[in-house]
Amino acid sequence: MVVEIISVGTEILIGNIVNTNAQYLAKKLAHLGFDCHFQTVVGDNPARIKSALDVAYSRADAVIMTGGLGPTKDDLTKEMLMDYFGKTPIVDAQVLSFLEERAKARGFDKLSDGMRKQAVVPADSLILYNHHGTAPGCVMERDGKICILLPGPPHEMQPMFEECCELYLNAKSDKILVSIIIKCVSKHDAPIAIVGESPIADRLNELLDGTNPTVATYAKEDGCIVRVTAAAQTHDEALEILNPVVIKCRERIGKQFIQYIAEDI
Ligand code: ATP
Ligand code: MG
Repeated sequence: MVVEIISVGTEILIGNIVNTNAQYLAKKLAHLGFDCHFQTVVGDNPARIKSALDVAYSRADAVIMTGGLGPTKDDLTKEMLMDYFGKTPIVDAQVLSFLEERAKARGFDKLSDGMRKQAVVPADSLILYNHHGTAPGCVMERDGKICILLPGPPHEMQPMFEECCELYLNAKSDKILVSIIIKCVSKHDAPIAIVGESPIADRLNELLDGTNPTVATYAKEDGCIVRVTAAAQTHDEALEILNPVVIKCRERIGKQFIQYIAEDI
């Protein structure tokens, strides 16, 4: 299954906040064994959100969206998505009573319209209750397309993902990905030519063409990282695939240029 991430929020587009949700989700998807070829950021605008979805579904089976589930007027992701998936909006009694009790405890006798709209959820969908905030997330499926909708605030989004979505996605994945990182550093007494990405890539040579595991180099300010990644059914199986190639990489690079070798978790 190919998954894309769409981060909704004008705040991200204008540079007010950093899109850490996409980074978090991308890492999770990689570990869960999903291919994610594109990430999109789109403002709080229904027409542009729809166009981002059309593009995403032209090349992926599932989309994870964050942001725009809250009580304010610019929070319109859920409404837009219910329309997109042809889902009937219904009031979730559990969310409504939670919101009413919360309002009462804060001295309000009645819910504002904005707060009330958070209790509206798509019918025939999986509702993800929010234990760290007010807006529930949801999973909508239709005609083989999946959309997982999560709140924007990371302290709400992350536990919701870990409590509910990981299990859901795990069941859809037929493999997991495990990566080992080889951190190569510059040594004061080393010839300068060995420390950069390109000389290391030269030494790894045909190992970079492998498909399972894959071997890739990434330039860093203080040297270079070699990432060796295997896809397998289990973690142990992945390590069995990784280990011989990691040993070869270590020999080719030369121990003296390696700061550490560790699993990327
Ligand atoms: P709320 O109920 O707080 O309105 P929401 O689901 O409607 O939540 P947004 O209104 O889009 O989410 O964003 C609320 C806040 O969450 C932002 O101000 C920002 O602090 C954080 N946030 C949103 N999207 C992201 C993101 N992609 N990466 C990091 N933080 C984010
Ligand atoms: Mg909001």
